[in-house]
Amino acid sequence: NRWDGYDKNVYDWSSEEEEPDGRARPVQVLLVKDDHTFELDEAALSRILLAEEVRDREVVAISVAGAFRKGKSFLMDFMLRYMYNHASEQWLGDAEEPLTGFSWRGGSERETTGIQIWSEVFLVDKPDGRKVAVLLMDTQGTFDSQSTLRDSATVFALSTMISSMQVYNISQNVQEDDLQHLQLFTEYGRLAMEETFLKPFQSMIFLVRDWSFPYEFPYGQEGGMKFLEKRLKISENQHEELQNVRKHIHSCFTNISCFLMPHPGLKVATNPHFDGRIKEIDGEFINNLKILVPWLLSPRNIDVKEINGSKITCRGLVEYFKAYIKIYQG
Ligand code: GDP
Ligand code: MG
Repeated sequence: NRWDGYDKNVYDWSSEEEEPDGRARPVQVLLVKDDHTFELDEAALSRILLAEEVRDREVVAISVAGAFRKGKSFLMDFMLRYMYNHASEQWLGDAEEPLTGFSWRGGSERETTGIQIWSEVFLVDKPDGRKVAVLLMDTQGTFDSQSTLRDSATVFALSTMISSMQVYNISQNVQEDDLQHLQLFTEYGRLAMEETFLKPFQSMIFLVRDWSFPYEFPYGQEGGMKFLEKRLKISENQHEELQNVRKHIHSCFTNISCFLMPHPGLKVATNPHFDGRIKEIDGEFINNLKILVPWLLSPRNIDVKEINGSKITCRGLVEYFKAYIKIYQG
């Protein structure tokens, strides 16, 4: 049972950064401006990560990254539900409750490229008794033109450097250009970091949305791993370029995994009035969400951020964030 070992108080949270009504919210900490310069909101970052309860705790930083309108924020909102209600088997909540948290869908409003973090850092007891701080990051890129691709590369690189678990959210399949993007983005990151004999990044999770070949590779993590192994396989008769992309990805991450998610149904994908209630989401999607979210976030599965082999606290993360952004501001 995935919920073994939880008790009601595993997650308590500290909220420094609040709305006037006391509720936590997403906070834009990194913004890519129209002139392609980067702006880090150091004050907001510090308010959240240097709060007394969390600043000296080792930090687990979980990021979801990828192109716009592929359901990242929608997923993050379910991750939030888990963080708040994990103690209950019913963490997914009421079937008719609208989904809130990071703003998702967005209609026609102008979209920003950057990084948002949740204003509450969650304190979680790992099974070994250590209390760690969990930070959730929602990352946004456009990937649509040369100029914005560079912005996206920087955002993706930064979020990969800062996180201990990077979820690469992609639609339908792992295409060659998804891998090329990943190579470009991680190369951006690696160049900015000190060289070490260790792999520069920790966990990379390929999350494939709207997977439609479950008869070839079943939904979930096992099917995902088999699928990804095939996709990332290096063979002699491959073109050198394809081999290099694969070698690069293998050399960057300590752990690489993959999860195949089913389509959530037409209401989610096309109805402008859909408010996120579970009742209107396909059962197969919900079943896999119940596996995916604890697989990502359960206390035993979350990993503390390490840089050059040392565990990082919230306070340390702020320093790294500031140092890394300076490199890109060049
Ligand atoms: P983001 O830009 O990646 O954060 O995307 P959003 O979370 O804002 O979602 C964009 C749109 O995709 C919304 O209308 C969602 O209802 C819809 N959506 C969410 N998850 C999925 C999914 O797994 N598949 C499909 N096809 N649509 C989704
Ligand atoms: Mg979003």
